[in-house]
Amino acid sequence: MTTQKSSLLTAENRKPKAKIQTAVDAVLKAIQLCEQVQTEMVSTDAIQKADRSPVTVADFGSQALICQAIGTAFPDATIVAEENAQALKENASLLERVTDYVNRFCKDTSPAAETVCEWINRGSGEVGPSFWTLDPIDGTKGFLRHDQYAIALAHIVEGVVQLGVLGCPNLPYRLDAAETERGCLFAAIRGEGTQLYTKTGELLEHVHISETVHRFAESVESTHGDSEAHANIANALGITAPPVQMDSQAKYGIVSRGEASLYIRLPNPAYPDYRECIWDHAAGMIVVEEAGGTVTDANGAPLNFLTGKRMQENRGIVATNGKLHQHVLSALSNLNL
Ligand code: AMP
Ligand code: MG
Repeated sequence: MTTQKSSLLTAENRKPKAKIQTAVDAVLKAIQLCEQVQTEMVSTDAIQKADRSPVTVADFGSQALICQAIGTAFPDATIVAEENAQALKENASLLERVTDYVNRFCKDTSPAAETVCEWINRGSGEVGPSFWTLDPIDGTKGFLRHDQYAIALAHIVEGVVQLGVLGCPNLPYRLDAAETERGCLFAAIRGEGTQLYTKTGELLEHVHISETVHRFAESVESTHGDSEAHANIANALGITAPPVQMDSQAKYGIVSRGEASLYIRLPNPAYPDYRECIWDHAAGMIVVEEAGGTVTDANGAPLNFLTGKRMQENRGIVATNGKLHQHVLSALSNLNL
């Protein structure tokens, strides 16, 4: 059993550079699609899913482009992605819009609507020994507000995230700088660190956490966490700066760049049975870990990506610069949260 695991890991890791390049190129293209949709958006480009969360033309388009790119480069790949084409099959005008945007980025193949649906459904794989996980737009509410959102893609082998790409089209190069240049992409390979690129693919820097910054990040959406408990933890740690409230996994990005020392996401008391989705954390987790940080759940347990689309065994998220991690976990147990 052990031998089988290590041989799968070795085989999968033989070409991490080819994998990351394909993943980065796919996410860069998806960023362009999302930005075009955002500038031209009409009200019918967003609909509500059964759980009342929004999904847009850009979510479907991003998923189509990325699944097509991964599926072409790695035909045996399993992809576990957030969306599927069912809603498009019931909404002809939405499907037409998605097909139009995807075609702008696939001029050589001019995919028909049916093909675009097939590409989207290439993401309907199941969690297993080796798979990719994709959130084509993480933080769709942020996308709709022209605020932060992310395109998150990760490759997981035997439960270990091997690479992660986090496209953050609206994230400034530096959070607190006066300059206004925006659009970042974080790319991490296990054992090789985290790199920061511009949204056009130019390398900006090798990123690292900060052990001195004393500030925390949490979701903008009050129902996606427990802001009162977050404030109590911050208080126990002596953090006096106001929280950075940000949509999407861009929060992991700012921890990896040393702009926050903690991203905390405790279960909201109104949704005690909520379990986090794998695509909401896999890419962000490796981006922070490879920048020198630590990520666990709120009990200090490692994130388990093998229990299905949702992390059934984990509660909440604690991502830190590493130095702060035990302090956060102790504060959590002292406060009995
Ligand atoms: P964020 O932008 O950090 O708030 O994260 C957005 C993600 O929150 C979405 O992709 C959802 O999957 C997830 N989400 C939805 N409801 C909840 C909830 N009750 N608790 C935690 N996360 C949630
Ligand atoms: Mg998401």
